[in-house]
Amino acid sequence: MNHFPIFVALEGRRVLVGGGGDAAVAKLRLLLKTTAHITVIAEDFDSIIEGWAAEGKLRLIHRAPEPGDALCCVLAYAAYEDDGRDAAFFRLATADGAMVNVVDNLEQSQFITPAMVDRDPVVVAIGTEGAAPVLARKIKADLEEQLPVTTGFLAQIGKSFRKAANALPMGPKRRKFWADYYDTVGPRAAEGDEQTVQSALETLLAQHLNTDTACGHVDLVGAGPGDPDLLTLKARKSIDKADVIIHDRLVSKEILELARREALIIDAGKAGFGPAMSQSEINDLLVEHGTSNAHVVRLKGGDPTLFGRLDEEVDALESASISWAIIPGITAASAAVAAIGQSLTKRQRNGSVRFLTGHDMQGFADQDWKTLAQPGEVAAIYMGKRASRWLQGRLPMHGASPQTSVSVVENVSRADQRILTTDLATLPKVVATATGPALILFGLAPRQAAAQLPQEVAL
Ligand code: SAH
Repeated sequence: MNHFPIFVALEGRRVLVGGGGDAAVAKLRLLLKTTAHITVIAEDFDSIIEGWAAEGKLRLIHRAPEPGDALCCVLAYAAYEDDGRDAAFFRLATADGAMVNVVDNLEQSQFITPAMVDRDPVVVAIGTEGAAPVLARKIKADLEEQLPVTTGFLAQIGKSFRKAANALPMGPKRRKFWADYYDTVGPRAAEGDEQTVQSALETLLAQHLNTDTACGHVDLVGAGPGDPDLLTLKARKSIDKADVIIHDRLVSKEILELARREALIIDAGKAGFGPAMSQSEINDLLVEHGTSNAHVVRLKGGDPTLFGRLDEEVDALESASISWAIIPGITAASAAVAAIGQSLTKRQRNGSVRFLTGHDMQGFADQDWKTLAQPGEVAAIYMGKRASRWLQGRLPMHGASPQTSVSVVENVSRADQRILTTDLATLPKVVATATGPALILFGLAPRQAAAQLPQEVAL
């Protein structure tokens, strides 16, 4: 990031614009939205600028710039649309201590003006460091659509209500009040006038002041296999408001980045440099934060209901009388099978599919192996790296062909996803090349490769 975004306080401060043509008009349109004292300096002025001056919105100086013109200016714009005159203005204004933008000249500018979505006092600034103005415009158009015009109106009233809301204790309780206002109560009341919104806020505050302070809650959330686009909307909303996130090793960095800046993020997959946290330590953490009034998100890779020791955590929460909810996620098997272009079940091939963990396989009875060895069987095997030897050794003993297709999908849905196409005979060798989390899809080959099998087996 070569340009750091900030919002400059302009109330009562001076801004100088050099130039009186189209470029100056365009910048002035933006600057006139602020409370700055604006001066425009040029020999000639567009009639629009003269009109603004006549209305008392800005001051004009009819001459070329001189040293001292930009004294006490916080910002200055060189808008002469002439390289030589812009450069001269730049020198004078910087010598006077102003930060200077040369219009349409990124290299010469000390700051740049972003694209803006204006819902004053809510302002969204979009910058691409000059890399993609078209993209900035697209993002702006999307945001213009997303942010109702009432956003500014609600924020304005919210601002004047902040003092009253301080009656709520700082932290989750106050945040919950504001979230209710901006998510539901405010938008509903915004159809009315200022008085309607004001009384809706007062009612809401009274409700929040009267609710029990122990409002801690734990969402057990599925983070999906890694790609943030595979999060459910519900998961996304829960992460957005989390005060505490307790996550597994499998949860991707991109997903953790979605958390609020103030959120406490705890990696339960690690404890310092030592071994992973024990399940009872995790349960204790959940209870500790769940009783502290916080919105806690227990974030688990994939779907929390699959091989995630969810029930132990729910039991711990229940016995501490903490409210909880499960938010499902996309499990690694769903994303892996999508990556190879296949279905988990298919008419006339397999009417059922098994979700297995490698750990279980070591305790498999003959009957289990026999069923799995049937032609057309499909199984999604989690944590199966070590179990692949068992599969290779045992299944042929129960009649499975060593050429049965197996796909291994490593780092499903992530930038470094790898699809390894193999068969039962070579599975352990292939699995050994995976360093990231890997899901074994027993009985399935990628759609394209399936057409060529069993002749070709690729690594
Ligand atoms: N609850 C998770 C599974 C947890 S068990 C889910 O629903 O996906 C952990 C195992 O899941 C890993 O050993 C691996 O086999 C599989 N897994 C999880 N995320 C994965 C990913 N992004 N890519 C490949 N396999 C993954």
